[in-house]
Amino acid sequence: CKEALSTPRHENPTPSKSEPEGLVARPGPPAIVEGIEGCIGNTPLFRIKSLSDETGCEILGKAEFLNGAGQSSKDRVALSMIEIAEEQGILTPHSGDTIYEGTSGSTGISLATLARAKGYLAHICMPSDQAIEKSNLLLKLGAIVDRVPPAPIVEKENFVNRARTLAQTHTASSQGRGFFADQFENEANWRAHYGGSGPEIYAQCEGRIDAFVAGAGTGGTISGVARYLKPLLPKITIVLADPQGSGLYNRVRFGVMFDLKEREGTRRRPQVDTIVEGIGINRVTANFEAGKELVDDAVRVTDAQALAMARWLVEKDGIFIGSSSAVNCIAAVKTAQKLGPGHRIVTVLSDSGSRHLSRFWAKAGDVGGAVDTRLESVLNA
Ligand code: PMP
Repeated sequence: CKEALSTPRHENPTPSKSEPEGLVARPGPPAIVEGIEGCIGNTPLFRIKSLSDETGCEILGKAEFLNGAGQSSKDRVALSMIEIAEEQGILTPHSGDTIYEGTSGSTGISLATLARAKGYLAHICMPSDQAIEKSNLLLKLGAIVDRVPPAPIVEKENFVNRARTLAQTHTASSQGRGFFADQFENEANWRAHYGGSGPEIYAQCEGRIDAFVAGAGTGGTISGVARYLKPLLPKITIVLADPQGSGLYNRVRFGVMFDLKEREGTRRRPQVDTIVEGIGINRVTANFEAGKELVDDAVRVTDAQALAMARWLVEKDGIFIGSSSAVNCIAAVKTAQKLGPGHRIVTVLSDSGSRHLSRFWAKAGDVGGAVDTRLESVLNA
């Protein structure tokens, strides 16, 4: 056993028959990388056992909560936006330039982490109804945090507009440069998934994938992955997982966001009404636009279903995920049921439940006790 443990794992030793099974060396870890940036990407893809067994499909989760900087899929996007801005001379490392962003939290945490690593300042604007642990974490990272009252994008005080204006004011004041990262419209976002998540999933699945399922917050993930996979696998089904209150479900299914009740005489639009954080929008962003023609289907997921799925995954598999990942898993199961047994469905586990303790998980309650744990009950929650 000692020998097995001391063998460098990257050499992929063939396990000897005498080794107890638990100590068999797994395929090797990646080589040494440069800085925390090097810990982004190459996340595991694993079989979600309970959902696969129940559906007769292979439901695979991309463990994006294992990205090493901000611990979510947004690490890829933050790094891509910063690196492209550096290439264009908009940002200079260790210059004290300030990065501004409007975010539900995850992108801000990734940007604030990478800002520290690269010698920038970070100023993050986020809606005040998002889980408090996200803004607490941002403060610990030394970011300036504005918690902005939730408001539609067409209003000046919307969190995204606030970040844009602050960046402009900063640059105009000649105190150094203010860079508005602009994850919704900045196409460095979907390109990060086109160049990272997409090829990783394809390689991990050795080219055998029947469906890819993801929610859209900016649309970067679904567009980037779809743009990579669809030309290689023309028969793949790309499915949007959309939380209640989001307009994209109708956009995909019927071509219009007709549940957008524009208030009379104004261009105001209602907010997405859900406790799910990070996904659901009521407009077509540049990043959703980039892949929207490739999205074949959409599944609408209620908060109750997401809460039940999150609890289920802890109880059955020991997987502790955030709200958007729970939405993705409901949509993955529905896709499995639609396609029938024997298919392989890949979805994204964007962040951990620890980012959602005070809001989503507070509603989900504690796991255990006399709960009905049939998958049908989760889907009908
Ligand atoms: N999950 C979480 C937790 C997020 O923060 C986001 C991004 N806002 C997403 C999923 C959605 O990803 P995308 O922006 O690529 O659509």
